[in-house]
Amino acid sequence: MPTSLTRNFSIIAHIDHGKTTLSDRLMGATNTVAQRDEKEQLLDAMDLEREKGITIKSHPVAMEYKAMDGKTYKLNLLDTPGHVDFSYEVARSLAACEGAILMVDAAQGVEAQTVANLHLAHAQNLVIIPVLNKIDLPAADVEKCRRQLEDILAIPGEDAIPASAKAGIGIIDILEAVVARVPAPVENPDKLLRCSVFDSIYDTYRGVVSYVRVFSGTVKKGQRIKLMHTGKTYEVKEVGVFTPKMSARPQLVAGDVGYVIANMKSADEAKIGDTITDNTHPCPEPLPGYKEIQPMVFSGIYPVESSDYEALKAAMAKLQINDAAFTYGSESSTALGFGFRCGFLGLLHMEIIQERLRREFNMDVISTYPSVIYQVTLTDGSELIVDNPTFFPETQVIQEIREPVVNVYIMVPGDYIGDMMQLVLEKRGEVTNTETIDDMRVMLSCVLPLGEILVDFNDKLKSMTRGYGSMDYEHAGYRPANMVKMDMLIAGDPVEAFSTIVHRDKAESYGRMLATKLKDVIPPHLFVVAIQAAVGGKIVARESISAMRKNVTAKCYGGDITRKRKLLEKQKEGKKKMKMFGKVNIPQDAFIKVLKSG
Ligand code: GDP
Repeated sequence: MPTSLTRNFSIIAHIDHGKTTLSDRLMGATNTVAQRDEKEQLLDAMDLEREKGITIKSHPVAMEYKAMDGKTYKLNLLDTPGHVDFSYEVARSLAACEGAILMVDAAQGVEAQTVANLHLAHAQNLVIIPVLNKIDLPAADVEKCRRQLEDILAIPGEDAIPASAKAGIGIIDILEAVVARVPAPVENPDKLLRCSVFDSIYDTYRGVVSYVRVFSGTVKKGQRIKLMHTGKTYEVKEVGVFTPKMSARPQLVAGDVGYVIANMKSADEAKIGDTITDNTHPCPEPLPGYKEIQPMVFSGIYPVESSDYEALKAAMAKLQINDAAFTYGSESSTALGFGFRCGFLGLLHMEIIQERLRREFNMDVISTYPSVIYQVTLTDGSELIVDNPTFFPETQVIQEIREPVVNVYIMVPGDYIGDMMQLVLEKRGEVTNTETIDDMRVMLSCVLPLGEILVDFNDKLKSMTRGYGSMDYEHAGYRPANMVKMDMLIAGDPVEAFSTIVHRDKAESYGRMLATKLKDVIPPHLFVVAIQAAVGGKIVARESISAMRKNVTAKCYGGDITRKRKLLEKQKEGKKKMKMFGKVNIPQDAFIKVLKSG
């Protein structure tokens, strides 16, 4: 099939606006999954993948569509993860396309995520096909949505296709629009091999499967290829397309979307955004847009039982083989013992890894309070990256600290705008723009420190607006901030697991909050236990736990001896779960309780 008949596109949408339903419809309308038993097979394949330990991701799908003009087109639908943690992956997938369907739920209107996603699509110069979905719903307001597209997104409203993915309305219109509006791929005239890797999965048996878009040239089995950023060379074992299951093909040509299997052993060999070229006839330079993936959020992960350390280490190694964005290194803490400092793309990524440790590896873990990365310039002019409060330099050698900031888009019902602005201010943010979306909603554009929105910003937004608010964000570099390290001293000794990096203005309130929490979870001792929050040796908050003589057998009146022994044993057990800090016992779950609720 000539390249002029190929169309590469993806669907961008806010969650629940109908992306999955539309994808299924498009596959149905093009007979991509024709029979029911094939569909079941597909599900089986996914279960198998799970057993083999492959990361579950939606594959791109190659469809064939006979258009009204009588020609048969090859349509490649690329899926994109719908979360800002993976915005680099989204950007690389979009870069593999020439167009995107922008899907908006006609009953809900444009949401924050739609705005953020559209920015990514614009950055790749994609042709946008707006689709207004769910027109079967009585609440759907197509005209209002057309106006929103124009006002908020600067997209001509009349271009929008009304549709219902569920009822099957407008599906052919969408397919025709893809054929007519999305440009065909254009091959570089030198015809040297240029393939961009936009995603990869790890298969226990076959190694790394790279998802690729061929921009020019041809790639086939037996060919010697080179990855331009890593400089490594491989022999191609198999190439193919997704129908949607992986189907081997003799070759992939310019414009194609498919997969390449070479003998790669770990996910970080197929770096997302890297360019595959021919080893003997390489292209002069790699395709644009490559970026080394940098973790944005760090946290310590420790086994609950210290005897699980080796097992946890093995689990981390396995996770990293199929997720190159996840990083880890050993660290130890007096409070938590031996564990790992882990790097994640964001909070969702962190949750996914923790969940996988629990589910796939049966590990019981504690994680420490997440931290972002700070850039520090020291007085001697040297630069330092700090992702762990333990390594925060002394105040007197710091010249400047910069913290990561994000552009946040928040969509809220108009009634809540005051509360929302207040929340943004509390989080050290600034509102850069407010725009009325419709008679109900307002969109705030803000700049906020990433560290401030990590833990509870989205939860607060949701509870404040009774679930009606939505938000999304994109990274916006670093800016100077007056950050300090705050230590918690318990009976005079610093307990490093509770150390955090906070803004100077917030040290006091945060210190007070932590001290109060610790007061609740540390049991009374035979002496008064002081809990202090300190910044650079200065105490900013203080609590104390009054002394108490604990006598568990007092209640037993010397009566039943077995009952007495049972109680003593119980107390012994309780002690085992404590950790000694200087003179103070801190229960193991104190760390979980305090760290969890932040
Ligand atoms: P995604 O999160 O964007 O992938 O959204 P889904 O495709 O999972 O759809 C979210 C919900 O909206 C599901 O319950 C769908 O059945 C429903 N849905 C999707 N398209 C339509 C539509 O055109 N009309 C109606 N009424 N519901 C729809």
